[in-house]
Amino acid sequence: MTGTIAAHVCVKRYGRESARGHVPERGAGSVLSTVDLKVVGKFVLPGEGLPTRQTRSVRSFRIVQPTNADLAAVALPAMRLHPSPGQPGVGQSHIGGPLLWPVDEPWPEPAYSELQLYRKDFPSLPFPRGTDLLQVFVCPGGTLDGPGVRVVWRSAGAVTDVVAEPPPRPRFDDEHFHAKPCLLDPCRIDEHPLSASFAQGCKVGGWTTWYGGEPHHLLRCPECSAVRRPLIGLDTYEFPHESCSHQPKTVNPVGWKFGSLGALYVFACSRDPRHPVITYED
Ligand SMILES: [Zn+2]
Ligand SMILES: [Zn+2]
Repeated sequence: MTGTIAAHVCVKRYGRESARGHVPERGAGSVLSTVDLKVVGKFVLPGEGLPTRQTRSVRSFRIVQPTNADLAAVALPAMRLHPSPGQPGVGQSHIGGPLLWPVDEPWPEPAYSELQLYRKDFPSLPFPRGTDLLQVFVCPGGTLDGPGVRVVWRSAGAVTDVVAEPPPRPRFDDEHFHAKPCLLDPCRIDEHPLSASFAQGCKVGGWTTWYGGEPHHLLRCPECSAVRRPLIGLDTYEFPHESCSHQPKTVNPVGWKFGSLGALYVFACSRDPRHPVITYED
């Protein structure tokens, strides 16, 4: 089988390093197909003067069955949350339960409290030094790409008096953001893009359905220019997955709904997760 991939990119130099994507050029696996990669854009070649818009056939690629080494090279660790209805306490990682929140600290507003995750349960989260608890609020309005979030990193030991009341609902309450109290049953997986190992459902880290294929300048941290990576994904639905034996009793245990019944992804700065986060609804 042969085919053509046309990629619309703007490149400054003619070279394969300019082409984005993960089209493998060689591999030990069996050849599945061959494609021509054509690049449409403005090219400046040495000694050719002004940039001109043209289509060039960059080269042919063999699409091969990825080997285990290929998959390992693009694997991102993820932890699935596996929420199920329950009665969590402030000392537990959970979705939709009571937060370990200091009595003398105002609630973020307007925001829905959605979850808290302790370092002891989710060591792969990028906890800033001195913190061991992540708390996430969803803020209606947010960005063009959906609701925003407020992310709080704190030291659980520094909270002595815990507030008894949940945060007040925003004035224009949206039931889409209501999370029922859920206990978590986390498990670790390695995710690969565009493969069967990609897990749908709430998770920490891992891939999103598009991360890696989109312009990364959108994900540059506005404070330090480091790339922002998937921090957490809040999914409307939970499905069984071959990677583990967890069987959700319902497909929507939390009750929240994001986007067109999709997921809300939060991206955090890879250098300092306290820098501004960005959200994307998928
Ligand atoms: Zn940053
Ligand atoms: Zn699992």
